[in-house]
Amino acid sequence: MIISIASGKGGTGKTTVATNLAVSLGDGVQLLDCDVEEPNAHLFIHPVFEKKEVVSTGVPEVDETKCNLCGKCGEICQFKAIVVIGKTVLSFQELCHSCGGCMEVCPEHAIREGQRALGEIEFGRRNGLEFIHGRLRVGEAMAPPLIRKVRSFAHADKVTIIDAPPGTSCPVIASMKGADFVLLVTEPTPFGLHDLKLAVGAVGILGIPCGLVINRSDMGDDRLREYAGAEGIPILMEIPFDRKIAESYSRGELLVDVRPEWKEKFLRLYEKIKDLVREAGETGREEQ
Ligand code: SF4
Ligand code: SF4
Repeated sequence: MIISIASGKGGTGKTTVATNLAVSLGDGVQLLDCDVEEPNAHLFIHPVFEKKEVVSTGVPEVDETKCNLCGKCGEICQFKAIVVIGKTVLSFQELCHSCGGCMEVCPEHAIREGQRALGEIEFGRRNGLEFIHGRLRVGEAMAPPLIRKVRSFAHADKVTIIDAPPGTSCPVIASMKGADFVLLVTEPTPFGLHDLKLAVGAVGILGIPCGLVINRSDMGDDRLREYAGAEGIPILMEIPFDRKIAESYSRGELLVDVRPEWKEKFLRLYEKIKDLVREAGETGREEQ
């Protein structure tokens, strides 16, 4: 079971939901923080880190002594990451998507694969909870390959909770694709509703069942609930504004530690998600 926790925009409480759900479920659960540009789940989980690995991606390195300046590498590159200019071949490694196309077409075998560091992955634990997060190298723009690498450590026999980046761009898609369920965390404000609609659109394209958690649910207005009702998106949990929760968040404390009664609510949230995943599976089989 892979549950991706996303939100159309930052600051809605996505990490609060991801970390508290993971800790409530406890043993046999993995929490993967895929918000690689700004990972912060560890600030609440306080894992004991056990190891770290650098993640690299392949980039072209041109041997100018073999190159005949034919320009075929530049023609195939969709990202303008390699070009022939005058009597030299320039490669812009930050633009490279590591497709290998230029190496394939080079008639002189003048391009070999070098490596560019994308970032690093750290592995840790909080008792029986496995924690993994990626951290993108400063200045690196290619988040999706690092996210895919973090996701590659998901075990099929575990419940995997993914803390996705905010927004609806490529890194978010990389964090949601292949999940069994997307839990969208939002707030009942016009901005929240606007960004939620974008997120729901992205989830719809991926064909993944989804549900909502409304944070600060006693603020704002009812338009969010009306939208959810009209779209048939179930509201699975509401978290009202609570000063004690907000203060504990700023201290890096978990909601379920400050208000232990919430553990039961997060366990019920998981049961609702399991039911929805089962229903979606049955509907899918009937349609086949
Ligand atoms: S590996 Fe692909 S993306 Fe990178 S420079 Fe070559 S053709 Fe372009
Ligand atoms: S395809 Fe190979 S030989 Fe042709 S310009 Fe590129 S590196 Fe040089």
